[in-house]
Amino acid sequence: MTFITRFAPSPTGPLHLGHAYSALLAQDMADAEGGQVLLRIEDTDISRCRPEWEQKIFDDLDWLGLRWPQPVLRQSEHLDHYNQTLMSLADRELIYPCSCSRSDIRSALSAPQEGVPLHSGIYPGSCRHRTLDSLQEGDAIRLNMARALQEINPLQFTERGARHSGIHHLAPARMIAEIGDAILGRKNIGTVSYVLASVIDDAAQNVTHIVRGEDLYQITFLQVLLQAILELPTPTYNHHKLIRDDTGKRLAKRDDARAICKYRSEGSTAQDIRRMVGLK
Ligand code: GLU
Repeated sequence: MTFITRFAPSPTGPLHLGHAYSALLAQDMADAEGGQVLLRIEDTDISRCRPEWEQKIFDDLDWLGLRWPQPVLRQSEHLDHYNQTLMSLADRELIYPCSCSRSDIRSALSAPQEGVPLHSGIYPGSCRHRTLDSLQEGDAIRLNMARALQEINPLQFTERGARHSGIHHLAPARMIAEIGDAILGRKNIGTVSYVLASVIDDAAQNVTHIVRGEDLYQITFLQVLLQAILELPTPTYNHHKLIRDDTGKRLAKRDDARAICKYRSEGSTAQDIRRMVGLK
């Protein structure tokens, strides 16, 4: 199959119109290409994910008419694998432990949100001299960005989304200035960051096309770098418009007014939802 995409929600709240748009667009594109949509539950952030939300996600997607093969990949069941992959970067001195700022670490472990910088300020590299044998409880594990960039040849990815459509190159100076030593995991929570787990699974699931919201466009540069250092293929990306509320703000999980379950309980049909997000 030449077109495999995925819908990869984190079960931290109800699906809203923005998720429905992403999932339905992925299904429409897969149908047009004779391909397939996979469903993946991205629940590595154990402090925010809940099983009850996961069940509601299945119900809403089923109601929307999405079809996906079984079994569904649940990331919390593969933490050892992600950690092993992360640790394999230690021999190449591409990662180091960092004990700086907890709030920074927490936000970096979650999927990013529009308007919030990937990290609150570029990490100054205070712990960059440390090696993994000094890893302590609660330390973050950071990518040595400059060293990672030395290991790879010039990189690029293809973007099909309307706003950023084209071929994008990873410019080392910008990667260092705008992303810096990104956090890839954390000791003792038993988890790795969303950016890394997602890259590992896209390759494991042979995903060829990534259809997701524009809020994740910037993080693509980091994910493409991770694909290169892990020798994984780079899919084609399609970052789509975000569905916004009446004031123009991006919908968030807490925006219950736009929750799919609310529209369902009020008698809307799946076709009504398609119309609301601008799909035929
Ligand atoms: N799990 C991420 C989220 O719910 C989406 C990740 C992706 O599509 O790459 O925001």
